[in-house]
Amino acid sequence: MTAAVLAGAFALGWLSVRYAWWRPAADAGWPRLLMYHMVSAPRAGARFNGLRVSPAMIERQLRWLRDNGWQSFTVSELVECGNSLPQKSFAITLDDGYADNLHAALPLLQKYGCKATLYLVVERFDRDWSVQRKAHHDGGELMREPKLSDAQVQMMLDAGCVELGSHSMTHANFLYLDLAATRQELADSKRILEARFGVPVKTFAWPFGLYRPEQVRLVEEAGYSSAVTVREGVESPGFWQPLELKRVKISGKDNWLAFRLRLRTGRKGWR
Ligand SMILES: [Zn+2]
Repeated sequence: MTAAVLAGAFALGWLSVRYAWWRPAADAGWPRLLMYHMVSAPRAGARFNGLRVSPAMIERQLRWLRDNGWQSFTVSELVECGNSLPQKSFAITLDDGYADNLHAALPLLQKYGCKATLYLVVERFDRDWSVQRKAHHDGGELMREPKLSDAQVQMMLDAGCVELGSHSMTHANFLYLDLAATRQELADSKRILEARFGVPVKTFAWPFGLYRPEQVRLVEEAGYSSAVTVREGVESPGFWQPLELKRVKISGKDNWLAFRLRLRTGRKGWR
């Protein structure tokens, strides 16, 4: 009996750390910025399956959001509307520029009437940027993943529901960039994307979510009005820092309970 009680308590403790069901729900007036990368099935033995959300799962998520009264915005719209946003507003962000964003994500965005912000790396081909974060992430998995061609990016923009944002020139690790190189990554990517696609680029995504405090003002200097991080959470538009916006991580390794917890509280586990 005692052993069973102990085992039960242990299981409850473990579940409560893994799934922070006890965390209070974040205010419905605080927008959820959902962070996606690839929309594809997980691959056996792959390192980055957390970045792959299956088409079936994202469809279930978008259907649930629609059926429960959530309204979709681009990141720039969220920042511009700020305190006048309706309850239950959210943004979909797609980082890096994977080809499946066109083939798998766009049809679902259109089916469920959703907008998205595509954070594109300008020089995204034949580049193994995962080693910039951790040297041993040198398997080339993300480098081999097909990327959107410029023509495919244009097709996404032509759909009318996608905002273009910058994810830097090279997906550099900004922790290692001096201020001159930082300015260059920020300004060049904005200028090139605007010239190439003929749209304003007003928002930026920090590569790997890594940067130093003194780099934040350079984003504004380069002409952006917002930037997203990979820090998890949701915030009040009255108090958020537009150049350091938190996001809700949507992981390909999550089950449905985890998605619902992340949406409700901004994160899954206790940390
Ligand atoms: Zn990225």
